[in-house]
Amino acid sequence: MHRTGRGGTALPGLVAATIDPFILRDLTARLPGGSAMVIGTNGKTTTTRLFGTILETAGLKVANNRSGSNLLRGLTSTLLNQASLDGKLAADMGLFEVDEAAFPKAQAKILPKLILINNLFRDQLDRYGEIDTVRKQWANTIKTMVPGTTLVLNADDPSMVYLARFAPEGVRTVFFGLDHPPLALTELPHAVDAARCIVCGTTLIYDAIYISHMGHYHCPNCGFHRPDPDFVVKAIELSVEDGSQFVLNTPDGPLDLKVGVPGLYNVYNAAGAAAATLTLGIAPAHVKEGLAKFKSVFGRIERVSLGDDRYLLLALVKNPVGFNEVLRMLTNDPVKRLKMMIVINDLYADGRDVSWLWDVDFEILAERLDFAQTGGLRATDMANRLKYAGIKPSKISWEENIAASLEKALEYIEPGETLYITPTYTAMLQLREVLTKKGLVVPFWEE
Ligand SMILES: [Zn+2]
Repeated sequence: MHRTGRGGTALPGLVAATIDPFILRDLTARLPGGSAMVIGTNGKTTTTRLFGTILETAGLKVANNRSGSNLLRGLTSTLLNQASLDGKLAADMGLFEVDEAAFPKAQAKILPKLILINNLFRDQLDRYGEIDTVRKQWANTIKTMVPGTTLVLNADDPSMVYLARFAPEGVRTVFFGLDHPPLALTELPHAVDAARCIVCGTTLIYDAIYISHMGHYHCPNCGFHRPDPDFVVKAIELSVEDGSQFVLNTPDGPLDLKVGVPGLYNVYNAAGAAAATLTLGIAPAHVKEGLAKFKSVFGRIERVSLGDDRYLLLALVKNPVGFNEVLRMLTNDPVKRLKMMIVINDLYADGRDVSWLWDVDFEILAERLDFAQTGGLRATDMANRLKYAGIKPSKISWEENIAASLEKALEYIEPGETLYITPTYTAMLQLREVLTKKGLVVPFWEE
């Protein structure tokens, strides 16, 4: 739900690109500090915003495509909107979040001096083997990068390390990654297919897994392996309410960092943004301050106060990888007991097929849940899934109607406690309506 609408931002771009196909190049070529670009299938919006917040903290004026137009036409039109009549951008630097399909053309036109690539997740594509197509397309684009460009890559994602092979001479590659054994899983989560070596097809061996297919891996056949990153995240402390703290080992020494958004995936996003900005020469103090003051405007995780010392924490769930990540974040504190409400709809925007719930590791909740309320159109399917995950039926309650379901759940929440709610997309919209009707202050949310 973009407040300006896709048509609203893309139309001037369409007209401009038709008139002058070089306009994007002209606009960005005049930026004194050049441009940077963020690519990736998961978390690139948050990463771009973290990146931008750091640049702004360092006093730079940044031209960007924040309105959500990350296709080529949208990019052109947002920049045109920010430009003066003589075609100049009143900015020091450009920072662009670019859609995976738009990457080849955007790179050719903008010629960024730094490209940060987060990851390549299959489930964000179409689940039909498109991952190979996208990877090939990215590799071909990287081959065309000009000397002097820097590529900042996530060492924990095998695809990123594979892509580094295509960097031409004169293109610098910088890696970042996590090294924090207490948070590592030893088995690939349910949702991930066996990760195969991109070079030779052999099943990769993982010594540590952090999220999905990301971790410390090597191929026992051809030797393809995770390189030692230039920027290493250590000593991670996750907190659902306050974001995360970690130490980033950089080539110039360790940095204590804090990021105001929760979850291990945001540690990756923050590490990418920090590695990129430090590589650009931004002072460590600005990186630290920028990350710390960042608050998620997208509100994928929101905290709502009920006004009586009771709280709700809402975390949108869209797919197994994201859901598993939320569950891991919630169960990170080994002594904490959980009271949850899981709201599953199966409308078009949620995905009609709810079989994906079987790819979510609800099993890790079995020993931790005090109580689970399920709601939404598929409340009974969800209750059933929890039962199969080993949660005692006496702890599970279901009710399709979301308002009634919430009331039921709230009966179990004592002062000082939080109800953790994980809704699908349309369930989140309905839930927000219910909360607004109850007179609660619900933070702005856009998706
Ligand atoms: Zn191999």
